[in-house]
Amino acid sequence: MRVSSGNTSGSDSRTFTVVIDNLGVGRSRRATRQLTVPFQQLQSLLQSVALRGDRLKIISVDGQPLAAPEAAEPAPVSEGAVAADALPAAPSPAKKAAVTHADVPVNLYKPKDPFIGTVIDNYSLLVEGAIGRVNQITFDLSGGNLHYIEGQSIGIIPDGTDANGKRHKLRLYSIASTRHGDNVEDGTVSLCVRQLEYEKEGQIVHGVCSTFLCDIEKGAKVKITGPVGKEMLLPPDEDANIIMFATGTGIAPMRAYLRRMFEPAERAKNPEYQFAGKAWLFMGAPKTANLLYEDDLQRYLTDFPENFRYTKAISREENNAKGGRMYIQDRVLENADEIFAMIENPKTHVYMCGLRGMEPGIDEAMTAAAAAKGLNWAELRPQLKKAERWHVETY
Ligand SMILES: Cc1cc2nc3c(=O)[nH]c(=O)nc-3n(C[C@H](O)[C@H](O)[C@H](O)COP(=O)(O)OP(=O)(O)OC[C@H]3O[C@@H](n4cnc5c(N)ncnc54)[C@H](O)[C@@H]3O)c2cc1C
Repeated sequence: MRVSSGNTSGSDSRTFTVVIDNLGVGRSRRATRQLTVPFQQLQSLLQSVALRGDRLKIISVDGQPLAAPEAAEPAPVSEGAVAADALPAAPSPAKKAAVTHADVPVNLYKPKDPFIGTVIDNYSLLVEGAIGRVNQITFDLSGGNLHYIEGQSIGIIPDGTDANGKRHKLRLYSIASTRHGDNVEDGTVSLCVRQLEYEKEGQIVHGVCSTFLCDIEKGAKVKITGPVGKEMLLPPDEDANIIMFATGTGIAPMRAYLRRMFEPAERAKNPEYQFAGKAWLFMGAPKTANLLYEDDLQRYLTDFPENFRYTKAISREENNAKGGRMYIQDRVLENADEIFAMIENPKTHVYMCGLRGMEPGIDEAMTAAAAAKGLNWAELRPQLKKAERWHVETY
């Protein structure tokens, strides 16, 4: 996203008059603006234009028209740079029935009057040698109006009371199934739950709700609220590019996206969504045995080699370039060029989900990766966020 002036010294005093065509991504109206900026501001302007998916055309330099606007040539571009004019047009509004934010179901069931779901499945997602406990739990939603889309969460109110004798508060869990459920027949929801376990004053403590869920028997009735959340929704474009950073149970929403994209029964069920973009999952886990949904992911790699890429960071089994433990941020750094090349495309969205502690590492890696490309991540990230292309849900 760097534009050369043809004069690479830092003392370029030229001014550029540009026309920006706002294509309406994330906003409702299309608009055209004309601006005159010094060379020093041109680069950050180009970055923000590219990230928003707008179009920019340079029409004059120092007041001298380059050509008639429709025939204008952009300023010369340096190697590895992207001319604003060369940027692909922003995604057009979804051609087929897209779910807009206003249509997304929220708070259909509230804590005072929750939906009562029935457990139909509860099994471990881990294999021998894994650390901790992570279960997949599926609820039957029949008999009510609880429905959701990929990227949302539901609330669970565990049975029993807290230390003060009050009913437990709800805990949120990312939905791991698509809107059609794991059986693709609608009317179910699946979660991916890690039992919270920590040590306090020499005692092992287990989390209330995560233990309630991991221990729950088939047939049990559970209080469910929601759905909630509009932060992690997938764009409706079938040719969007989706970069995913997940650690641990942060894979839950990603699993829903990937099923929607690649699971044959899902593709058959959703003729309006035949994913044809690129999906790249970065997954962090302590051990190979802790990787979740591995068989499905390997199948998607085999079936959709052009569309799916999967990069793992196994912290206790692999080393980074400095000889330390391999974390997801190390994989981000290793792949910085390709990640940023994808981000330059306005059709690319980035999703991050997992424990809150993963955020600083990813941010640090993106800062270093951006700097290596002459970009400033502190400026870019808010622009991506504003363009609704940077999605974070950590807990
Ligand atoms: C949007 C969202 C989505 C989520 N999605 C998922 C998901 O998909 N899967 C999933 O497993 N979880 C998910 N969570 C987390 C989930 O909501 C619960 O917070 C988690 O299951 C723990 O709840 P609990 O009732 O078991 O623990 P609690 O009994 O509520 O205990 C939690 C409390 O224990 C204390 N504590 C925790 N760790 C330590 C420690 N190391 N040392 C000392 N004290 C500690 C803290 O006071 C903390 O508040 C999500 C959270 C949010 C906000």
